[in-house]
Amino acid sequence: MFQCKLCPNKGTDRQIRGVGARMAAYRVCSSCDFWLTCLGYMMLGDQDPDGRRALRIDGRHYLTWTDEQGFPPEIGYAGAEVCRYVLLDDPTGAVRVSHRIWLMGTIPDAFRDRMPDNAVFAPAA
Ligand SMILES: [Zn+2]
Repeated sequence: MFQCKLCPNKGTDRQIRGVGARMAAYRVCSSCDFWLTCLGYMMLGDQDPDGRRALRIDGRHYLTWTDEQGFPPEIGYAGAEVCRYVLLDDPTGAVRVSHRIWLMGTIPDAFRDRMPDNAVFAPAA
């Protein structure tokens, strides 16, 4: 066990989803390892070439995907409702629609400053 460098949690090099060695090398806990992955997503532009998009709304992190891409492999809550959202950096304010959205969780305090919201939910049509 070791102290996580980023938050008050304890880290371990026990293999969790195959990333134990990485967590030990960076001295981060499994939660921070997960959020570092999300932070990396943001630095790559919040979008996959195949259309998945990371959304941060009210401090919560979401990922959209399409039927073709299939359900994300990680565990998360998948809403059944259509998600309508507006990207904050879209000057046209266009409402985008995703039929698949996955709530990945609330962004922890240790990452909140570095991962500001990038979208808002749009009201139902
Ligand atoms: Zn941590």
